[in-house]
Amino acid sequence: MDRSPVPPARGATVRGALEAELASAPQTGLTTKELSGLVGISEKDVAGHLEHLEKSLRAGGAALEVIPAECLACGYVFRDRKRLSRPGSCPECRSTRIDPPAFRIR
Ligand SMILES: [Zn+2]
Repeated sequence: MDRSPVPPARGATVRGALEAELASAPQTGLTTKELSGLVGISEKDVAGHLEHLEKSLRAGGAALEVIPAECLACGYVFRDRKRLSRPGSCPECRSTRIDPPAFRIR
């Protein structure tokens, strides 16, 4: 079997690793912090790659599902939050103890 001597672009490799990690946690999902540790890139980079991964998943008929962030103090759920980053504080009680959003593939 011939193998291509050209390695895939670094970005594609990272996204493949993210996809593999997400696929391994279909129940609980993974936060950007967890993905950052698993794949070895910064949380900020994880968010950027997830946006691209979401597009490629959609093209393949799958989707990146966001499990919303939740306030640990009052239970407020950040349901309508579309951004992938972690909210700074709760709009209800101003607590900064926020359970961050998690991601999974469905
Ligand atoms: Zn709250």
